[in-house]
Amino acid sequence: MSSLHHRHLAVSPEWLALYYRHPLEITHGEGRYVWDADGKRYLDFFGGILTTMTAHALPEVTKAVTEQAGRIIHTSTLYLNRPMVELAERIATLSGIPDARVFFTTSGTEANDTALLLATTYRRSNQILAMRNSYHGRSFSAVAITGNKAWSPTSLSPLQTLYVHGGVRTRGPYAELSDAQFIKACVADLEDLLGHTRDAAALIAEPIQGVGGFTSPPDGLFAAFREVLSRHGILWISDEVQTGWGRTGEHFWGWQAHDRNGPPDILTFAKGIGNGMSIGGVVARADVMNCLDANSISTFGGSPVTMAAGLANLSYLLDHDLQRNARRVGGLLIERLRAIVAGSECVREVRGRGLMIGIELVKPGTDDANPEAATAVLEAAREGGLLVGKGGGHNTSVLRIAPPLSLSIAEAEEGAEILAEALRSVE
Ligand code: PMP
Repeated sequence: MSSLHHRHLAVSPEWLALYYRHPLEITHGEGRYVWDADGKRYLDFFGGILTTMTAHALPEVTKAVTEQAGRIIHTSTLYLNRPMVELAERIATLSGIPDARVFFTTSGTEANDTALLLATTYRRSNQILAMRNSYHGRSFSAVAITGNKAWSPTSLSPLQTLYVHGGVRTRGPYAELSDAQFIKACVADLEDLLGHTRDAAALIAEPIQGVGGFTSPPDGLFAAFREVLSRHGILWISDEVQTGWGRTGEHFWGWQAHDRNGPPDILTFAKGIGNGMSIGGVVARADVMNCLDANSISTFGGSPVTMAAGLANLSYLLDHDLQRNARRVGGLLIERLRAIVAGSECVREVRGRGLMIGIELVKPGTDDANPEAATAVLEAAREGGLLVGKGGGHNTSVLRIAPPLSLSIAEAEEGAEILAEALRSVE
């Protein structure tokens, strides 16, 4: 055990999850690569859980942060803040939400917490509909709406949460259904829940479940849900913490793939927008955003130095059309990975959109989750110089690939080769 690992264990909570038998200390990065404390280089296919949206050490972001830090780092939202207003304006426009208002937080958890504060106050109800297998963060209320019980560190709850089918269909009673039958069954399940309650505040969903293993509902599911919800006046919250900013290639926001009914009532974002700086936030219709009963504030949300990073990062993303790159390189990478695993007894599926790709591992020749194989591939890939993530329901048997959106074709090919070798080692 390294001495840093030893010291980490002595001061950190036991539940603070760490990757790898010998955890990695990353000391620096550039482009799509990071280096560990021993100087070994890795191609980064996980971007610090999708936080490095454009590239590591992107000069434009570094310059913006350094210049802003040299002027002033922080003052609080009690004073006007130019970078914050500018980033809010850009996000309001990009969200497509009419008359949008933007509130910045410091994490995805706090963004979802704020969305819950808004929805419950707007509807005067603490009942929330959430998806099975979902992940929405680690605060008391975010845990309370997280359907993935592997990441729900307490069973106590400040909210009444009703879980809706639709998040996972790879196994269980819905696995054999066609898309149309699946949508019908999920809508019937939602109608059934709503038959017993009249006051749900909102339904919150990830357009593609991130921690849940990059599982995507069939296109049209959320549109069908929206029709039911709008009949009851229930709000729609799209958690875009992983799926936003063009990651899925075809669309700028994840909800656009599933829902033709226009933007959600509330959209939450975080992770990639700061390219590693802690920015989260909520976008909502003005009447929803303005429904709170008293003033509120976030001391660190909208900090000038993080906002400067967000502005530089967003400009880079748009100027270089990285959404298009995610579509093109992601599409090639999915094809390449499918070719690599063709005929494999251990891989159930390679799935994904853009640069959000999952490889689901199973026990040879069965449909049973294989978390041991996922861990073994993660370790083998690391040995080969590639970082990937893991996810899935209770059994984390899905490899998660979500590199910075500037990934080149040559880098995609390099990563696919290392993965092929790592997968062979567990066959
Ligand atoms: N929502 C989703 C969909 C997420 O994936 C995450 C983080 N994995 C969160 C919310 C919470 O974000 P944070 O860790 O920044 O609090």
